[in-house]
Amino acid sequence: MRIFSGIQPTGRKHLGNYIGAITQYVAGQDRGEGIYCVVDLHAITVAYDPQALRRSVYDTAAILLAAGLDPERCVFLRQSDMPEHTELTWLLSSATAYGDLQRMHQFKDKSAAQRELTSAGLFFYPVLMAADVLAYRANEVPVGDDQRQHVELMRDIAERFNARFGEVLVVPEGRYPVVGARIMDLQFPDRKMSTTGASEQGTIYVLDEPAAIAKKFRSAVTDSGSEVRRSPEKPGVTNLVDILAVAAGRDPDEVERQFDGAGYGALKQAVAEAVTEYLAPVRERYQEIRGDEAELERVFARGAAKARELTAPVLRDVREAMGFRGVRAGQ
Ligand code: ATP
Ligand code: MG
Repeated sequence: MRIFSGIQPTGRKHLGNYIGAITQYVAGQDRGEGIYCVVDLHAITVAYDPQALRRSVYDTAAILLAAGLDPERCVFLRQSDMPEHTELTWLLSSATAYGDLQRMHQFKDKSAAQRELTSAGLFFYPVLMAADVLAYRANEVPVGDDQRQHVELMRDIAERFNARFGEVLVVPEGRYPVVGARIMDLQFPDRKMSTTGASEQGTIYVLDEPAAIAKKFRSAVTDSGSEVRRSPEKPGVTNLVDILAVAAGRDPDEVERQFDGAGYGALKQAVAEAVTEYLAPVRERYQEIRGDEAELERVFARGAAKARELTAPVLRDVREAMGFRGVRAGQ
């Protein structure tokens, strides 16, 4: 069982990333062969600052390691160390439908938010994501709910490739958390908590101090009424119940029952406490790991070497199937 997932080194990672993705990565190390990637090449598809990107790669790597990724038990790599990913992106483009890319929600949402340039990279993003996964013949892709469409597309690309060129690629499955697959912004509970598109007050960052966490939950937008109950008409309360359930390791129904008649104030206080405790171990370990960039580079170097062993046979098979030389001349 091979598991692959990537996370962008844009900005600061948040509770949605932690619940939707990072905790799944950590658990995946015990279920199979986990391959986890800081996808810095994806980060250049929107406006960005090169110096900030360099720092953010280390920030994101340190968060993942602090959260429990163990480079001895998984393959932990940086996307830009692997030209295999970009090469495969181009090769897969011939099995990708232009019309499918035009239908992607993420492209529509993010292109609408660009002030200056909507880059072709933003449009092509899902093909690079498909290459990331397919280069490893991964079986499973743990992601949040917002990535369903991209996972479906990579499955279509793999199937079309195999139909056209022979059974070379593994068609992967998405894996989504049962609770917390889409954590919402605390100020705008109709939008997902997001690195690039959310409100500062509505976003809990993994490294937030307890006081900041308490303040953000206190000012979380709830709904009219006072009943603690999950429903589509109560997205704010639903979000808080789900977050509390995940952070405290409890069933959301049980959380509802506990706060029956207790009011929103009690719920907000409980969720703030649970989240503070939930994130504390990461915050405690982070500084030391982030402080040693040389060690982070060593981790990436080992990760790239291991990754290359896994991608080499896949790239060779893809190249051969498509009519190229399997091993490049000169290698
Ligand atoms: P952006 O909004 O710029 O796309 P992001 O917050 O989605 O950034 P990514 O690095 O793109 O961050 O996503 C990393 C992982 O976190 C993905 O698997 C994604 O599905 C998951 N994820 C992102 N936001 C949420 C959320 N609000 N709830 C649950 N999972 C999420
Ligand atoms: Mg995203």
